[in-house]
Amino acid sequence: MTDPTGPAPALTLAQGDITREHADALVNAANSSLLGGGGVDGAIHRRGGPAVLAACRDLRASRYGRGLPTGQAVATTAGDLDARWVIHTVGPVYGAPGADPSLLASCYRESLRVADELGARTVAFPAISTGAYGWPLDEAARIAVATVRATPTRVDEVRFVLFDDRAHAAFAAQLD
Ligand code: ADP
Repeated sequence: MTDPTGPAPALTLAQGDITREHADALVNAANSSLLGGGGVDGAIHRRGGPAVLAACRDLRASRYGRGLPTGQAVATTAGDLDARWVIHTVGPVYGAPGADPSLLASCYRESLRVADELGARTVAFPAISTGAYGWPLDEAARIAVATVRATPTRVDEVRFVLFDDRAHAAFAAQLD
């Protein structure tokens, strides 16, 4: 068991493509199939290369035959990315039945739990659920920042990597 205590992590912001970031773990806004998709997922698989997809296929075959449930997280190798691990998490689809904010919060909490298990000290998150899954940016940013602040972890730095100006502004407003 890890002991997730210690000083709260530094929360930092970056703008751009998360697959260009260096961190111990990069979080993927995956879909439950774990087999790739658009947005962050597509970029992670493109730049991570075949090792990431092979690891995801293994997880499908071994533990997640029905897919990774929404709100959960699981790690694989980072393949060719400048990281040790990718932590795949499945955000809720905005407006879908049962897709309440607690499920989006769970993505951040579970990803940090997996990061602690791995011993990751720097973790980069995209704005989960704010692309294809349609979550309003301001609310998603509020949930992301509040959840990370409330989650005990041994991670030293949590970096939010925002693709565009709007997302960056939404997260910056929460960190002020
Ligand atoms: P979801 O299906 O969880 O909504 P998406 O990947 O469609 O995930 O989008 C999540 C957020 O990530 C959106 O704000 C989108 O603009 C942003 N995004 C898309 N590609 C990248 C990337 N390569 N790096 C960082 N953020 C990205």
